Amino acid sequence: MRAQVLTAARRPLVAAELPAPRPGPRQVLIAVRACAVCRTDLHVVDGELADPKLPLVLGHEIIGAVVDKGDAAERFAVGDRVGVPWLGWTCGICEYCRRGQENLCDRARFTGYQIDGGYAELTVADERFCFAIDRRYGDVEAAPLMCAGLIGYRTLRMAGDARCLGIYGFGAAAHIVAQVTRHQGRRLFAFTRPGDAAAQDFARSLGAEWAGDSTAPPPEPLDAALIFAPVGPLVPAALAATRKGGTVVCGGIHMSDIPAFPYRILWEERVLRSVANLTRRDAEEFLVLAPEAGVRTETVIYPLDRANEALADLRSGALQGAAVLVP
Ligand SMILES: [Zn+2]
Ligand SMILES: [Zn+2]
Repeated sequence: MRAQVLTAARRPLVAAELPAPRPGPRQVLIAVRACAVCRTDLHVVDGELADPKLPLVLGHEIIGAVVDKGDAAERFAVGDRVGVPWLGWTCGICEYCRRGQENLCDRARFTGYQIDGGYAELTVADERFCFAIDRRYGDVEAAPLMCAGLIGYRTLRMAGDARCLGIYGFGAAAHIVAQVTRHQGRRLFAFTRPGDAAAQDFARSLGAEWAGDSTAPPPEPLDAALIFAPVGPLVPAALAATRKGGTVVCGGIHMSDIPAFPYRILWEERVLRSVANLTRRDAEEFLVLAPEAGVRTETVIYPLDRANEALADLRSGALQGAAVLVP
């Protein structure tokens, strides 16, 4: 099969012809139809996440069709369409798994990081971590739901019932979360890189009542802020924009260092927290909610062979919505 392979950090991906993977007992073999490109992929390529398997096939927003399965695999039939997310395997027995926090499992393994992912024609996945995808979505359109959607949704959930919501960084996750936010009747304020008029227009087109530079204060205090850009200085900016008792949620897996800030912007019971990974419950909830909320995704298609170009465009901020690789 054709694949794009990471051989070492800070190197471009290399086109390779690999043997077709074989499904283990509880795995399905999937013909990949679409795989979205996530900012986490860039963090892996850049060596900012320390433990990838190498060589590695990146990609954890996979949509494909089951073409074969292991002896003990029973959830899906050959021909079924499935989606594969970042959470690839959990132990089921550690304290976190038993508490319903499998996203924090001590032994968790992640797709496109410790398990080969979807920048390829074929992949294998544990069937217990695969999901059916609503018929209303095409393959390409569904791919960004699998991480930008799922982890974006978990991030939104951590904001509780905040009515007046700010989003910092208007990329793939934000463009999905914005639509859910509007569906839920909340008010949305979008913050982008200073001067990024295109991203601000995009945010307004998705229901933001105000869009502006991340360095500017919002027109009124926020009940909660979600930070999707991997930029540490946004943390004190978001805290300063948030009202007493409000919450700031960091949705990314990696962020540049957070500068020192005065205690008074955290005081008055503001909460600062992060979100790590996802649980299968997040996926089940979100994959029902997304079609009900009428969530559409904006995508830019790249042939698999042009994966490096997709990563470069994500890095430069040239993309609106999500890049999706098609083999
Ligand atoms: Zn566990
Ligand atoms: Zn991701």
